[in-house]
Amino acid sequence: MIEVSIVASELSQLKQQLDQTRLSHRDTTLKSRREILLLKRIILRFCAACKHHNGELDKEIVELATSIEQVENTSELTVRIATFERLINRYKMDVQKEHSVMEEHISYCGETLQRVVGLPAGLKRDLRTLLQYPSQDGSKHIQRIVRLVELYERAIKFISVGKISSEINTNEIIDVDTQEQLSHELQHLISELDFDNTSGNKLLGIRNKLLTGVDAVSLIDLALQTLQLVLEGTNNERKASQAFVGDMNTQVAQIIKTSEQNQNQGQSYLEQRALLNEEYSLLIKQAEGVLESKSSEQEYKTKMAMLLSEMNDLSERNKAMQSREAALIERHEYTTKKLNNLYEETLEYRRQLSDQQQRVFKDPLTKVYNRAAMHERLDLEYKRWVRHQHSLVLTMIDIDQFKRINERFGHLAGDKALSIIAKTIENKVSDTDFVARFSGEEFLILFTETEKEERDKVLKAIQLAISKLPFKFKDDHVQITVSICSSEFTNSDIPEKVIKRSIDALYKQKSKGTEQFIYL
Ligand code: GH3
Ligand code: MG
Ligand code: MG
Repeated sequence: MIEVSIVASELSQLKQQLDQTRLSHRDTTLKSRREILLLKRIILRFCAACKHHNGELDKEIVELATSIEQVENTSELTVRIATFERLINRYKMDVQKEHSVMEEHISYCGETLQRVVGLPAGLKRDLRTLLQYPSQDGSKHIQRIVRLVELYERAIKFISVGKISSEINTNEIIDVDTQEQLSHELQHLISELDFDNTSGNKLLGIRNKLLTGVDAVSLIDLALQTLQLVLEGTNNERKASQAFVGDMNTQVAQIIKTSEQNQNQGQSYLEQRALLNEEYSLLIKQAEGVLESKSSEQEYKTKMAMLLSEMNDLSERNKAMQSREAALIERHEYTTKKLNNLYEETLEYRRQLSDQQQRVFKDPLTKVYNRAAMHERLDLEYKRWVRHQHSLVLTMIDIDQFKRINERFGHLAGDKALSIIAKTIENKVSDTDFVARFSGEEFLILFTETEKEERDKVLKAIQLAISKLPFKFKDDHVQITVSICSSEFTNSDIPEKVIKRSIDALYKQKSKGTEQFIYL
């Protein structure tokens, strides 16, 4: 009977548990249904938001939406959703491509407007600002297009009220020769600047525009931009130097502070150690006193136990002292390491500065000396010549019809040719001769110690070597030649006079053809 009642009670408990499990299962099912419904609704809304952008995607959206409405078992939707996801990704890539095409269009249209002569400076400035910061993520395209349209509208209004005459003659602003000279000077100035950062890239962009030819108004605009960029570049370099010096200062101040703390700590440890030593000596003396005294055994034992306990305490304090000293040595080593790193950093910075100083006198493209270095050296050699009257010969080398290289193959090909020609010249002259880039496609050599016969041999060799350089641009084999004029300093010559004499003679001679060689 007892067993039956136990079984009955267990059965009733099991029934209760079963009821509870059933209830919680029902709750979970309801909850999961609600969540599935919610997810379906979100997917449908997402589908609606993605509609009307792309035909293929729209078709898939309709099918996905229908499946979502009809399908009971959500796992049947997996394939459909994967297809949808793939299409969305493809669509995203298409959109990115469209954005970059649109950005190119914006730049192109903006640059076209920039080239319109005579537009007000304010408008050009706004246009420059717009073009300076292209949209990276495509989110601002509409705004940028609206802004560009506004600028076009302003330009059209300005033109239509007659502020710009269609026959405006840019030559009236500056005459053609001055314009050409300014353009050359600006190009040369830019090629002598050597900024590594974005200012440097923008300056190269300006130089490329100058190489392809610009009208007078754009020339002025480009000159202003160059000034701005030079200021910007200089400022950036100054800021970088200030940041470096500031950082060094902070680090040095920190190191000094830490060193002072370490020193104070070391001093205090020394004093503490002296005290410990004194205490040791005292205890030893006391122990000796106890040994020599005629105390009873009990007394002797008590005194010795006290002394031993004090010694124990002293030994513990000594151990603590040792670990504090070890920590101090570690801190000191860390500070020394930091100081060494700082020293390395300053050395590196000094190396960079000296590199920069070297670069100030080198032409970045051809790596021969630039005009600033040339003037300095010419001045020095001239003074020596005045004093000692040894021979001083200035040689001008001008590349023949170089403009054609740029026109046929682009300025990058021209740049390459310039740098190879410069190297060829430099390889042929001796270490005592001085080679500089005088202007765009003209090089200058100063001979101070080479005899005429040897000099002529070198110059003829330069002319021959350049004419034999195997230039190949756009699959065309191209021959480049140079004309050379050497002029010796005589009588009342001064550098400017000799330079002018050489240039004039060279140009006159070049009317007879290429590869000229004259000696004045
Ligand atoms: P000529 O035979 O009379 O000397 O004619 P040329 O074309 O060599 O001389 P011109 O003075 O008429 O033109 C020089 C050209 O050199 C103009 C300019 O485009 C080009 N130039 C100047 N500096 C650079 C440069 O740094 N890179 C490139 N690619 N071209 C340059
Ligand atoms: Mg020339
Ligand atoms: Mg030339």
